[in-house]
Amino acid sequence: MTFFTQGCHAHCPGCHNPETWDFDGGYEFTNETLQSIIEALTANGIKRNLCIMGGEPLCPENQFLTLMIVNEIKEKLPDVKIYLWTGYTIEELLAKSPNFSKIQQILSKCEMIVDGRFEEDKRDITLFMRGSSN
Ligand code: SF4
Repeated sequence: MTFFTQGCHAHCPGCHNPETWDFDGGYEFTNETLQSIIEALTANGIKRNLCIMGGEPLCPENQFLTLMIVNEIKEKLPDVKIYLWTGYTIEELLAKSPNFSKIQQILSKCEMIVDGRFEEDKRDITLFMRGSSN
């Protein structure tokens, strides 16, 4: 199950999801949206995991929503693994994130982070779960 946050400041050349850049785009997130994510993760008795990508899930505009989603999923479905893609490097995130910040809380709930911008000159479609070798 994949959830795409809306809005990204990075605008990497060659980005696969430029329709997610506009902070005024996307769909309104409601309680029903959250419920539909939970239902999709468990539909037909099949166990699924959650991918969160974008857009940028960890930019200041999206941190509150991303934190709310990971908290809800881990509370209601603690076995679900959460994979998150961010255009920030882990060094950038940790450098500007004090303990217990939203970013620290989000990272603590994720099983895997794929970090860093998409770099078109390093594009490689053979890589596992990422588009460029950086
Ligand atoms: S950070 Fe991700 S979503 Fe944002 S422009 Fe780069 S590749 Fe696209």
